[in-house]
Parts: sequence; structure tokens; C-alpha cells
Amino acid sequence: PPRSRTVGSGLLDHPDIVSTVAQFDGVDAMFASLGVPNPLYLEHEGTSGAVIRQLDRDMLNFGCFNYLGLSNDARVADAAKAAIDEYGTSVSASRIVSGQIPLYARFESRIAEIYDVDDAVVTTSGYLTNAAAVGYLLGRGDLAVCDALVHSSIVSGTEWAGCRRVTFRHNDPAALEAILKMSRAGFTRAMVILESHYSMDGDVALLPQLVAVARKYDCAVMIDEAHSFGVLGERGHGIRDLYGLSGDAVDVWMGTMSKALGSVGGFIAGSRELVRAFKYSAPGLSMFATAPAPASIAAALASIDIIDAEPDRIARLQSRAQYAFAKAQALGLSTGLAEGTPILPIIVSDTQKAVIAQVTLLEAGVNVNAITYPSVPLGEERLRLFISSEHTIEQIDTALIEIASVLDKL
Ligand code: PMP
Repeated sequence: PPRSRTVGSGLLDHPDIVSTVAQFDGVDAMFASLGVPNPLYLEHEGTSGAVIRQLDRDMLNFGCFNYLGLSNDARVADAAKAAIDEYGTSVSASRIVSGQIPLYARFESRIAEIYDVDDAVVTTSGYLTNAAAVGYLLGRGDLAVCDALVHSSIVSGTEWAGCRRVTFRHNDPAALEAILKMSRAGFTRAMVILESHYSMDGDVALLPQLVAVARKYDCAVMIDEAHSFGVLGERGHGIRDLYGLSGDAVDVWMGTMSKALGSVGGFIAGSRELVRAFKYSAPGLSMFATAPAPASIAAALASIDIIDAEPDRIARLQSRAQYAFAKAQALGLSTGLAEGTPILPIIVSDTQKAVIAQVTLLEAGVNVNAITYPSVPLGEERLRLFISSEHTIEQIDTALIEIASVLDKL
């Protein structure tokens, strides 16, 4: 269809933009002509719990990373409402120039305590946190050594930094060593960047081994705890908790409030100097950016209280995840690198198959993600399920049996 031109000077005529617009116009038209729901930007009503209201029906929801059911927990919602009553819907300024409400320091000291480090800084978005932190810490002439599967926001950070970026084979300490042996000498500063719990694959970083290699080659280490905080470790305090590491095992602990914490925003925890530098000169983290909404911080703080007060919730999440993994394997589904954590990929290795399966499952009342290129490499397309502590065994069984049956027919 003809495009409306809202921008002059050919800005929208770039081939990448033209092809994206044409491709997704085509996708819309295809779903419309097939008379099936378009899963992209599909509306839902109500909260993102274990059951979600979509397409005028209750749907088993395995598509959201609400790992502990806290984004629809009444206590978390009450804390957010109380923060709105007290502080309004926005603080309407950046903290450095206009002062700050006490919630930020309360959250930051809680995070610093959990990570056993000096301090932390809270931000408005997980994506922005990675992009801005990597973008600030590294510059031209520096080296970013990334696990091959790190999140897009980290890649954006390296582009923001203008540094040299190399990748090593996913979660492979020997591959990291080989890359460092080859490249480290040419750079004064280098940082190894990892995720704790990989969002597309559900495997956990071999952190102690990777850190040992990084330190041997005098590299800083940054880790993204997005899918780890509230999920891994006996107390749900993340990968540090899982492996029993000290706070200085990693230099830059990055996390999000959007997953287990049932809120939105990001954080960085680390040394006093690191946090001070971020707070006083890193664009986008705290500088030149409005501070997170009071309700977001209050919700995340309430979630941390619940995580600490209800260890059985963490244990239930972990045992449900292991149950789902075992069930998927028993059904003969291909689970890739999954290890029985709450991220469960079902590899289908074909874009059409993944999308048709997703739509068929939607019609059967099961919401799972279809993950296709560029989120994963071509040929590694998959369905992805997020398991929550709030899913029942029956819900997990129903979803996986339905998935196996749909994939079998395809
Ligand atoms: N890191 C990882 C590993 C992620 O999966 C995501 C997004 N899902 C982000 C960072 C960005 O976090 P947010 O969605 O909270 O902005």
C-alpha cells in the first residue's frame, strides 16, 4: 500500500525502512486474509498473570516474564498506588538538578546490599541501562568482549561507545580465552559482557569460569541480571546467590525491574566510584533523564520485600520450571540449551512453523512467544515459554501437551 510521507528529505526512503514497512504491511495483510489473529502487538485486557484475557477469552499465558506473579500482586499494586498518592505520577525532573524523593536511595541501598557492593543507581529502563552503561564505560580504542548471545541493548551500548566489539562462542570459557589471547593485547581497556540467564535459551552463565578467564586477561566484567534477579539462587538474589560469589566477582551488575520485580526500570550496582561516575556524568542513566516514576520504584521495593519474605515462592518457581522442562522432554520436544530454569525454548527451526504454531496455539487458548530472526539466528526459530511460580502443574501440562500436538501436526 502507498505510504504516507510524514518526513521530508527522503528519510523514510532508506531501504531498511522501506523493506520493514513493506514486510509488516504484508504480515498484517496475510493474517487478515487468513482470518487468524495477528500475534504481533496483540491486545490483551487485564493483568499479565498466569491467565490473560485475550481475543475475548481466558488464555493460558506463558508469554510474559512475570516470573513470580508480582506484576499482578495486590501488595505490589498497593505500594505503587501509595507512592502515587504521596509523590504523584512523575517526579518531573532529573534527580541531579531537582532533588530526589527518598524512594530512590531506599531502592539503591537495598540493591547494593543484595549484591554486596558499595552502591547502586536506578534508571528508567533496562534497555537504556545497558546501552548507556556500556556506552559510557567504553569508548573508541576500548574492547568489548561479548558472549555471542548477549541482548540487543548491550550491542547498542557498544555502538554507542564506538568501541571494538568481538564476540565469543556462547557460554564457552575456552572460546573466551581464545578470543582474549588473540585480541586483548591491542587494547588498554577491555570489558567482558555476559548475561546471567539467557533470555532466548534459558541457560545460565558459567560465571566462575568466565570470570576467571576475564581476570587472567585483566578485563573488567559486566553481567546482565535481567532474567536472573528473583529467579536464580536459593533466595532469588540472582547468579551471585546461585554460585555463592562475592560482590566484587563482577564489576558491573546490571538488572531490570521489569521481570521478576513486576515493575519497569533498570539498575546498576557496583563500586562507589562506578556508581558516582554513572550518577554524575553518564547520559541517560541518571543525568539528562527523568528519574523513574515513584510507582515503579515502590512496586519494585515491595516485590523485593515479598521475595525476601516468601522463599517458598522462589522454590515454587524453580520446581515448576524443572517440571516444565522434564515434561517438555518427555513429550519429545526439542529444548535446545534449556536447563530447567523458567525460560523454556521449544526449538522448531523454521520461521513459518514457529509463527503458525503460535497462532494455532492462540486459537487453542495458549499464549507463547514465537521467536524468529533477528531475535535468534535463522534456522534456530523457536517457541518460548516463561514459567511463573503462579502456573499450576495442570496449566503447564495443558500448554505443553497442546504445543506437542500442534507441532506434531505441522
Ligand atoms: N536485558 C535482557 C537480557 C533482556 O531480556 C531485556 C528485555 N527483555 C533487557 C535487558 C531490557 O530490559 P527492559 O525490558 O526492562 O528494558
